[in-house]
Amino acid sequence: MRIASVVLDIPTQSLDREYSYRIPDGLDDCAVGCAVLVPFGRRACVGFVMDIAEDNACDKSITLKDIQQVLSHSYFNDLGARCARFLAQRYIAPLSSCVRLFTPPGGVPRMVRVDRTWEVVQPATHEVDDRWVSRLPEADEFTPRKTAVKQKAVLEALKAGDLRVADLTAEYGSVNAVLTALEKKGVIRVERRRRMRQDTVHSDVFKPTGTRHALTDDQARALETINHAYQQQSGKTVLLDGVTGSGKTEVYLCAIETVLQQGRSAIVLVPEISLTPQTVARFRGRFGDTVAVLHSRMSNGERFDQWDMIRSGEARVVVGARSALFAPLANIGMIIIDEEHESSYKQDQAPRYVSRDVAQWMVEQQNATLVLGSATPSIEALYQARYNPNWSLAVMNSRANGKPLPPITVVDMGKEFGSGNRRMFSRTLQTALFQALQRKEKAVLLLNQRGFAQFLLCRECGYVPMCTSCSTSLTYHEKGAKLVCHHCGYERPVPAVCPECGSPYLRRFGAGTQRVESELCNLLEGHDCEIVRMDADTTSHKGDHQRLLERFAQADAAVLLGTQMIAKGLDFDDVTLVGVINADTMLCLPDFRSSERTFDLIEQVAGRCGRAHLAGHVIVQTYKATDTSIRAAAHYDRDTFLSYELDLRKDLNYPPYVRLANILLWGRSEDSVVQASHALYREIKACLGEAHKQSWQLFAPTPCVLSRLRGVWRYHILLKAPLDDGSIDEVLAPYFRKRKTIEDVNVAIDIDPISLL
Ligand code: ADP
Ligand code: ZN
Ligand code: ZN
Repeated sequence: MRIASVVLDIPTQSLDREYSYRIPDGLDDCAVGCAVLVPFGRRACVGFVMDIAEDNACDKSITLKDIQQVLSHSYFNDLGARCARFLAQRYIAPLSSCVRLFTPPGGVPRMVRVDRTWEVVQPATHEVDDRWVSRLPEADEFTPRKTAVKQKAVLEALKAGDLRVADLTAEYGSVNAVLTALEKKGVIRVERRRRMRQDTVHSDVFKPTGTRHALTDDQARALETINHAYQQQSGKTVLLDGVTGSGKTEVYLCAIETVLQQGRSAIVLVPEISLTPQTVARFRGRFGDTVAVLHSRMSNGERFDQWDMIRSGEARVVVGARSALFAPLANIGMIIIDEEHESSYKQDQAPRYVSRDVAQWMVEQQNATLVLGSATPSIEALYQARYNPNWSLAVMNSRANGKPLPPITVVDMGKEFGSGNRRMFSRTLQTALFQALQRKEKAVLLLNQRGFAQFLLCRECGYVPMCTSCSTSLTYHEKGAKLVCHHCGYERPVPAVCPECGSPYLRRFGAGTQRVESELCNLLEGHDCEIVRMDADTTSHKGDHQRLLERFAQADAAVLLGTQMIAKGLDFDDVTLVGVINADTMLCLPDFRSSERTFDLIEQVAGRCGRAHLAGHVIVQTYKATDTSIRAAAHYDRDTFLSYELDLRKDLNYPPYVRLANILLWGRSEDSVVQASHALYREIKACLGEAHKQSWQLFAPTPCVLSRLRGVWRYHILLKAPLDDGSIDEVLAPYFRKRKTIEDVNVAIDIDPISLL
């Protein structure tokens, strides 16, 4: 007797475990990863097979129910099933939501109520066919009657090769009768062939390029380090720390070649926003049609086709955004995560996984190798590369083209304001902009606007009110005109004048791209140049992103103005100026990673210019010209920044020295949320028990920075756990798994949060 362990496709905590079912004779195609129909209570449910065991110790007296039907082929294998369990455990997430990561785009079979009964409905997304016509050799001996003009034309057209019925119809009008007649005569064949829906990152402007460079010394050394780790086949991680333009992609391409030669396959993760046609073209240029691409801007049909191509074994290299990690790729030899520091590698809904940590688990399971690449590696990765013997480090300090990194000029906007310039653009930036445009070159302007939180800023000295015990900025609250720390709850009234310099120009901060765009248009009036704005608003439709980039690429003189999404991956030869409109917006966010993000952003955006023969220049506008992260970034001095930041993290108990769990509570009534938060806080405090009281830190509930979002009140409880005293998920998991939902209040737990907003 075969027994299957099945997880139901129902995202309810109370049903979130594996159930055993008997696999009856005749269901031989039932395998791990299949969607199946099982009886549950008084109805039938869809579930996924996680495990299959032969009956040996199973007590015959337990009468297991039978699986009723197998609804799909296998979506994942044993490794996938184990990975789903790992995710559910580590991130305290519903197992069913973890399993869903491994199912095909476009959905799985569902139970749908039709009249009074339940019916299985297969997903609407599936493979599509085209009807193709081919000319047979018999056609040579066949002469259509004089009046059969269409027959003649069709046979003539087919001489050049097979054609789709759709194409023939477009050319000659309805051809169905003609085709039937010709088919009867045995001179053509009509057949269905699968059509691959084209992924949207195909582009006519950015064609696959197969250019292969002789490796620089840096690249050769980095490749050597990666190959060495790979040959050990023991789940090693290599951190490739290479400045922008050092040619990391070429290193990835060479590393993947080795992997493919040995019959294994590779996954390359790229942040969604840098998954541009240019990036894809480089991989397709080297590995051709064995490259599958997966990202959320593709339609369900396109993603389904790519997913299916991976499952069939035809694709050997998968390039995609974070969820591509779960593609059904067999025999993975290497996982590469480019721009490893990017926060988009953390999923922001359950399961709230960190791609880097999941990839590490995967390579350990498969004796593969993980390569993390970045010009600005995360503090966590830098820390591991220093202290963890399972990690190695490869450094590339110079650009592949031998050009120096562009100089970075820091402009103190407080001084600028003091001397009478009240515009958003400093005189330095204006001059540089005019010069670049006159030379018919291009500029990229970054508006750093991750800030939803409003904070106060003194326009004269740049002072931002900070929390005295948390080293984060205080958030402005309209209600009650107060400043609040969102980590410890500290509050104080909004001061009337700047406590530092006495200036009355204390302003709330936060300017949108539209405002900057209109000011830019004023500034550039009379100049012959294209202004392209790229932000969430202008890229909301499929293909927008690419269209805007193509417009920028094809213009003569142009300015690209945008948010974070333009900081990465752009590679245009004629960009010679990069301006950061305001580097502080992020620095002042009440989050322990804000310095790190500021440093990263400046280095990343600087890498967008001076990439080819033209020299580049970077101008960073800031009210905090003396801040360590900005000063260090301006000198490309990561060592200084790293030691400063690591000391701070150690003192304040932040990662990489502790692990965090952020427990979020939200609901429509603030009272209920507050009550529930405090009740939960007391319970967790009790549940932590004596054992952990000494070294674990649990913070009382405070409102989130985004304390009210779409009519919902949000509070959070922060937990810090030392690395060596029990694991955070083991301690919290049993507790969260049995929790019932509190009335009107939702609870979510975020393990290893990337942001505490
Ligand atoms: P990174 O990802 O490190 O920022 P890229 O991989 O985008 O750098 O490479 C930067 C540029 O250098 C690209 O235009 C690439 O074609 C070029 N390049 C890469 N390797 C070499 C090399 N060995 N010699 C000359 N040019 C190279
Ligand atoms: Zn001031
Ligand atoms: Zn505080």
